[in-house]
Amino acid sequence: MKVRVLGCGGSFGSPLAWNRNGNIDVNNPKNHRTRSSVLIHINDQNLLIDTSPDLRAQLYNARCTKIDAVLFTHEHSDHTSGLPDMRAMSLINQSIIPAFLSSDIKESMTRNYKYIFDGHKDYSPFMSVKTIDDHFNIGNTKINTFKHNHGSIDVQTYRINNFAYSTDLKNFYENDIDKLKDLDLWIVGLLRYDPHPSHAGFDQINEYIKYLKPKKTLFTHMTALLDYEELLSKCSDNIEPAYDGMTIEL
Ligand SMILES: [Zn+2]
Ligand SMILES: [Zn+2]
Repeated sequence: MKVRVLGCGGSFGSPLAWNRNGNIDVNNPKNHRTRSSVLIHINDQNLLIDTSPDLRAQLYNARCTKIDAVLFTHEHSDHTSGLPDMRAMSLINQSIIPAFLSSDIKESMTRNYKYIFDGHKDYSPFMSVKTIDDHFNIGNTKINTFKHNHGSIDVQTYRINNFAYSTDLKNFYENDIDKLKDLDLWIVGLLRYDPHPSHAGFDQINEYIKYLKPKKTLFTHMTALLDYEELLSKCSDNIEPAYDGMTIEL
């Protein structure tokens, strides 16, 4: 399995407007972050988690010309609004691409992107909806998923073998964190150092990491308050900030 971090920025991306850079060194390319998503290559398939507003450029940079399925974590627009860019992938491969999502967001996603799922006038539909259960398969790949808390809404954590992705994480429900034991790689959202009403802060995320002990942890969904080198200097062994284009073989 190969995991590529297509983007690891918060909902604004970073840097922000000129001279409004937050705390980052703009001369470090690792601080230039597009909105969060990951591309997973497994069993000859490309699985995309979330369609960031920066999707077109992310797929171009990854030299990716085929997506076999999209998995959505939640419906916030920094995770969904690149969905129209999937039309090119559909046309290139002459395929209807399945979108895997929770029943909670099915109605709003199919309403907001009606032409994509139902077609409109000359536009044929180019994606289909697949409502997820706790376990499901895409081809030969087994996916496990559960909901974690993100303030007033829930977000899906996805686990594929020894890899898991938990973006926009505030809290886990009950004992769900135990479903993330024995990971080789955990990519987890870290918005900023301080806690936010919908996102856990640095100390809380580190408590989760200490409990789970993944072999490697990468931070994603980072605002311009988190400078790559400064954050790296605060991280224990086997924990580091991701950067756009980072690729991990598992
Ligand atoms: Zn987000
Ligand atoms: Zn969100």
